[in-house]
Amino acid sequence: MNGLKVTVVGGGIGGTAAALALLRAGCDVHVYEQVVNKTEVGAGIQLSPNATRLLHRYGLADALRNRAVRPLGIEIRRWDDGRILGREDLGDAAENAYGAPYYHFHRADLLSVLTAALPAERLHGGRRCIDVSQTATGARAVFDDGSVIDSDVVVGADGIHSAVRKSLFGDERPRFSGNVAYRGLAPVERLAHLNLKHQTTNWMGPGGHFVHYFVSGGRYMNFVAVTEQDNWDRESWNDRGDIAEAKRYYSGWHPQVHEILGAVDETFKWALFDRTPLASWSVGRVTLLGDACHPMLPYLAQGAAQSIEDGATLARCLTDIASSDVERALVTYETWRKPRTAAIQLAARGNSTSFHLPDGAEQQKRDAQMAAWSGLSPRRASIFGFDAERLETAEFV
Ligand SMILES: Cc1cc2nc3c(=O)[nH]c(=O)nc-3n(C[C@H](O)[C@H](O)[C@H](O)COP(=O)(O)OP(=O)(O)OC[C@H]3O[C@@H](n4cnc5c(N)ncnc54)[C@H](O)[C@@H]3O)c2cc1C
Repeated sequence: MNGLKVTVVGGGIGGTAAALALLRAGCDVHVYEQVVNKTEVGAGIQLSPNATRLLHRYGLADALRNRAVRPLGIEIRRWDDGRILGREDLGDAAENAYGAPYYHFHRADLLSVLTAALPAERLHGGRRCIDVSQTATGARAVFDDGSVIDSDVVVGADGIHSAVRKSLFGDERPRFSGNVAYRGLAPVERLAHLNLKHQTTNWMGPGGHFVHYFVSGGRYMNFVAVTEQDNWDRESWNDRGDIAEAKRYYSGWHPQVHEILGAVDETFKWALFDRTPLASWSVGRVTLLGDACHPMLPYLAQGAAQSIEDGATLARCLTDIASSDVERALVTYETWRKPRTAAIQLAARGNSTSFHLPDGAEQQKRDAQMAAWSGLSPRRASIFGFDAERLETAEFV
């Protein structure tokens, strides 16, 4: 252990994965999470090889495999007649090409694998950070129970409404995208008659798209139904949704979409936000990672994957350095991470237009491009092939 003391604020996917990377780098790391017993929302998550390769290095390969579904590919279908517009391989092809699998998880399963790998005494629940500051020799995090933690580095992994980001750069709200997602999990026995394959299916149509894939070892079908809505005036950013309301947005869409929507007992409604890439992530010895600094729309399935990459690069930058070198190391961390995450944020934003095109010339052009897809997608190679620990040889993006 090099003795660098690191405080991570936030025990979500990004914070816990970063803690595992920092422990491996010899840091004395502690995670402070506002929720007493943190779990994840009842929904699925896709994790691409750029993230799973890092988690494998942290010794999690068996635990992940036991809880994952390994999809065969990604299929794009047309909203009304169900025609297959494009197909990409995942499964063996992705694992052989990138040296790590593409997985689907229930989010709670993924988080429990990460937290179980963290020594219990390093995860502190029920601690909400309210302020951060610099001290003469380090950084300070202040919590709502009155406690104060001094360390060499503070990392804000506290999500899109980050208190650490606000403390560093002021209160600037994320951007409402005009997209609202309904999410749900359907027991597979209710959908057995559809003979659905183990793959990601993305239905694209005017003003929306609808993604579904299996999670929990294949016991549940997860869906994310994205619609365009003008307003989001609630204080909370997620809420219980109404299945009939969701179905109305998919009026005229293929019967399979309606069967999946109708097979859940409840649905949750999420307003989708992102941010324009930030100019800076760090001040002195305090930095950010994950949604705290680069929240993105989920249309490349990269938000959590990028937060895992952040943790790996941060740990590399903090390996074997003296406390007096921390500020310089955080500049290096930002230099490596910002161009890549900004490019992915903006590409994900762009997909909200192309996924939702009304029928017409632009949609036909998009469909013609997708029809040319086959095998492994070269478009994804720079995302999936990236190694966030290999700073010397990697391209930024
Ligand atoms: C519909 C949808 C689908 C998605 N699908 C995918 C996908 O398939 N693949 C993918 O890679 N990404 C996906 N994402 C994105 C992904 O969910 C996020 O990018 C990821 O969860 C961010 O992780 P994080 O740890 O940075 O933040 P969070 O998950 O938000 O975790 C932040 C943690 O900090 C805690 N916290 C907050 N404030 C404080 C405080 N003041 N003090 C202490 N603790 C605090 C919170 O309780 C929470 O535990 C999706 C997102 C959405 C909305």
